Amino acid sequence: MTRPTSIVRRTGWPTSVSRPVVTPLQPSVVYSSPDPDALDAQYADASGYTYAREGHPNAQVLAEKIDMLEAVDPASGGGIITGSGMSAIGAVFLGVLQAGDHVLGGDQLYGRSLRLMTQDLPRLGIETSLADPTDLAAMEAALRPNTRMILVEVVSNPTIRVADMDGIVKLARDRGILLMVDNTFTTPAAYQPLVAGADITIHSVTKLLAGHSDATLGYVGTNDPDLRRQINDANVTWGMTPSPFDCWLAERGLHSFHLRHRATQDNATRLADALAEMPGVTKVLYPTRADHPDHNRAVALLGGQGGHMLSFVLDGGREAANALTRAAPNIAFAPTLGDIGTTLSHPPSSSHRGLTPEGRAALGISEGFFRVSVGVEDADLLISELSAAVAAATQG
Ligand SMILES: *Cc1c(COP(=O)(O)O)cnc(C)c1O
Repeated sequence: MTRPTSIVRRTGWPTSVSRPVVTPLQPSVVYSSPDPDALDAQYADASGYTYAREGHPNAQVLAEKIDMLEAVDPASGGGIITGSGMSAIGAVFLGVLQAGDHVLGGDQLYGRSLRLMTQDLPRLGIETSLADPTDLAAMEAALRPNTRMILVEVVSNPTIRVADMDGIVKLARDRGILLMVDNTFTTPAAYQPLVAGADITIHSVTKLLAGHSDATLGYVGTNDPDLRRQINDANVTWGMTPSPFDCWLAERGLHSFHLRHRATQDNATRLADALAEMPGVTKVLYPTRADHPDHNRAVALLGGQGGHMLSFVLDGGREAANALTRAAPNIAFAPTLGDIGTTLSHPPSSSHRGLTPEGRAALGISEGFFRVSVGVEDADLLISELSAAVAAATQG
């Protein structure tokens, strides 16, 4: 008797009149088509799915949801999901720029973005320079005849400065330069770059959008179909496309984004005010506090939404910094942001350790500088834990 081989054959999916409430997870790498004509037509009009690197349903469902938040018109082709926030930026650069172009970046971009600007683009023959995005005259002075693109973050990491976005949008438009905004820190709940007049918005979806530190993903949105096609081709060709499971997790996280945004912002507002009263804390940086250097701009630009990120300076140098994280074991000391729970990061020993002490001092990043990504936990508990840790670290 021959052994049955039918178990090797895929038999399809049971049908049901009722449908699953939850988005199905579709890990299939490849899709079968009825015949060559149908496959030909699929490639010709880029419809449906053929091979997961080219696109898959879990990425599309996630992209469509972020498109709603970022006001991306589906007629443009819709947003693009990438394997990480860095690959979102990489896909834009690789899809749009040519050797000989110049890119102007904000001078306090995310660490890997700075590396891309200062080391990797120059290696590919693309000129770059950096300028302070809170200073429009400095941005304008840094433009060159071959400037093709500007990359800025609305709120800088970790010093929480607010860029002159209205001025930068107008500058880019007047000069015919593409403007890419990394909207990760700000989130579309506080700022929508495309509505404001930028050409491209990107996200590390890894952070507050997905919100649970269990998926690494990026997003690119644009309302220009030609740009969209160039960026998508770079993403697919260079193989920066995402895993279905990560997209599935991120969609699940995104469902509660608006609630987490509100809860983390409320907590951050309270924590910033509490920190400012703590002996041992010499400075608090939160955009909507009256003592913030960009307070008026934060109120006007972000509708008074300070967001989930704040920084503070602890008295007492590295020793006090070590003591603080040890005295707050329930607050994860981890170099990320946007998690459901509060995380603390220490730029002098992580994101900014490559700078000289003088370089850090110029940014106001002393050994006591901490960045806090505020979570949704009970604010009273959070304040009491951090307050006890600050006291232990500075009054020992
Ligand atoms: C984390 C982050 C990135 C990079 O995103 P990954 O998902 O880690 O690749 C880019 N920009 C900002 C502002 C970030 O916080």
